[in-house]
Formats: sequence, structure tokens, C-alpha cells
Amino acid sequence: MYNPHPTYLMDSFSELSKLGEFGLISKLTQGFSAKHKSTIFGIGDDAAVLGATGESSSVKLVSVDNLTEGTHFLKSYTPLQHLGYKAVSTAVSDIYAMNGVPREVLISLSVSNHYSVEMLELLYSGIQSACEVFQVDLVGGDTTSSKLGLTINVTALGDAEKSELTYRHGSNVNDILIVTGDLGAAYMGWKILDREYHIAKSNPTHEPDLDRYHYLLERQLRPQARKDIVTLLKNANIQPTSMIDISDGLSSEVLHLCKSSELGCKIFEDKIPVDPAVMLSVDEFSIPLSIPILHGGEDYELLFTIKPSDYEKIKEIKELSAIGHMTSERGVAKVILSSGMESTLQAQGWDQLKN
Ligand code: ADP
Ligand code: MG
Repeated sequence: MYNPHPTYLMDSFSELSKLGEFGLISKLTQGFSAKHKSTIFGIGDDAAVLGATGESSSVKLVSVDNLTEGTHFLKSYTPLQHLGYKAVSTAVSDIYAMNGVPREVLISLSVSNHYSVEMLELLYSGIQSACEVFQVDLVGGDTTSSKLGLTINVTALGDAEKSELTYRHGSNVNDILIVTGDLGAAYMGWKILDREYHIAKSNPTHEPDLDRYHYLLERQLRPQARKDIVTLLKNANIQPTSMIDISDGLSSEVLHLCKSSELGCKIFEDKIPVDPAVMLSVDEFSIPLSIPILHGGEDYELLFTIKPSDYEKIKEIKELSAIGHMTSERGVAKVILSSGMESTLQAQGWDQLKN
């Protein structure tokens, strides 16, 4: 009988979830090394950094992201214009996270017959609005059929000045951790959609009243990548020492900054910016506020560090909140909870919050 897999694979079975997303990436990619001088930085940051081997003052950035039906979105609760917008917004967010400027996107679709031409046109109207907002050109992609729903894959390309380029590594002890905007709303938006989805499954005539959750749903369905922050930092004459975007949740991202910078950190839960709508919804769901604000993903805000001497320059800027600082305790991220208790942050597993 034909068997494409060697027999040893049949006897050994390691579950993907045991290794976790980042353990898996590191296991699969550990044997690869760069062959070209133009690969300035490969795997391990929000975007790869590429450069011609000349004396140019800028570098090219490239990053790719997937949105998969069932994992990242529910077809019955996701307006397709928003989905198109989100696909571009989440991809360019990784370019901003390098303190760079996005320029182009390529879009690959894998789509089943359950989608009509009109539905995909709606998706593309959202893609087009995002291309206008983020000032990027759609320059290509790929289209294939799928048996299983829709997957949208967006590659974003951008530029950064070498002197402004910001990696996940580079922070120093006592650098101040800053977060943009507010956290937790996208996660609560997901909780609401998930709840409505399950109610509708058992009661198909159910008419959800979602108007009062407008902010939370907008944050989940149509997130805004922080295109303003690169300019804001430049105008304030601040070069961040490290930066990442918050796609998987603050706890996971802060641990990436610590690991890459070979440091630890201490953050204060009550300094984390939260919208009142998140407060109301955690009461409704009877979950601790720490879940959405520390572990909830998809806010697409930026998390970065600045030198302590730069703090004066930003302390009055309302879009920026100081939430803690870097410490010398390598790999240890401490959080002082609102209760006053101290806890050590653990990275969350494989899309754990959504499953
Ligand atoms: P982000 O959340 O910013 O999109 P990820 O956490 O997905 O970044 O990825 C971290 C790093 O691992 C990035 O450099 C990314 O390009 C790389 N990476 C992720 N998945 C793979 C893969 N399957 N093969 C090779 N590199 C990967
Ligand atoms: Mg990222």
C-alpha cells in the first residue's frame, strides 16, 4: 500500500499545541542561515530587513500575515469589507512595528465556492479602502480554490531609514515601556461575536443587538494599524530602543521584547490603558480585566521602549502610556496586578485564547 510518510512518523506524534507557535517556528527554522549579504535580518522580528549591498541610507522591510476562516474570523459574523480592511491593516502593522513606512502589499486568496464573486468584490472594496488609508499599492498576489473556506494572505513591503529602524532587540535596563492607544477591546469584540455565533446556532431566528458594542466590534473587525506613531516619534525627536506590534496580546509581546533584548521587565496592570467599554464588558462576561488587557490579542497597538531621558518628551501625549520598565532579570516579565500582588507573565499558547 502506498504510504507517503516514513514509518517512524507513524509511531512518533508530537502535538503542535505542545510546542506552541513560537517553539514550532524556532524548531522548523533553526537549520536555516542567510546566504546573502542583502539579508540584513531574517526570522525573529515583525518584518525581515533587506538591503542592497550599497551605501543606501534606507532598507526594505517585508512581512507576511494570514487570516484564516474559522481561526481568525467567523464567516457569518464578519462583514467582508471589514475583513479586507483588517487583512491589510494587520499586515502593515508589522512594518510600523519596525518604525518603518509601508509601501506595497501582495494578496493571496485561497477561496471556496461558498463565496460569490460579489462577496469577494466586497472583500476587495475593504482592501482598497485600507490601501488608501495606509497609502500602499496593491502590486500582486495569487488566487487558488479551496475546499475549506477562505484564507487571505497579505505580504507587506515597506521602507525604513537605517538610523530609524527599530528591532525587537535593543532596549536597555530601565528603558521605559510605552504602549499606544488602549488594550483589550479587540478581544472583548471577539468574545461578543463568539457568544452571538453560539446563540444563533441553537436559535437561528435570534436577532443580535450589537449596537451597544460598537467600539469593541470595530476594534475586532476593523483594527487600525498605528500609522501615526512613526511620525509622532520622529516629530518628538525620539528614537525608540525596541518595538513590536501587539497582535498576540501584551504578555506575549512583552516577553518577545525581553527575550530579544536579553532582559526582563516589570509592568503595572493599573497603568495599562483601557477603554470604559472593555470595563463594562468584562463585568458582563464575569471575567477578570487582566484577561483582555494582558492576554487578549489583535489590538494592533504598538509596544516600544524609550530611554528614560526621553520620557519628558512624551509624558503629555495622550496616545502614549508608560506601563513599566525593563529590568536586568533576563527573560522574566513581572506584572504588578491592580490588587498589589506580583505575578510572573507566561507566554500564551497556540492561539489559546480563541480556541
Ligand atoms: P508577527 O506576530 O509579528 O506577525 P510572528 O510571531 O508570526 O510575527 O513571527 C515571528 C517570526 O517568525 C517572524 O520573523 C516571522 O517571519 C517568522 N515566521 C513565522 N512563521 C514562520 C514559518 N512558518 N516559517 C518561517 N518563518 C516564520
Ligand atoms: Mg508583529
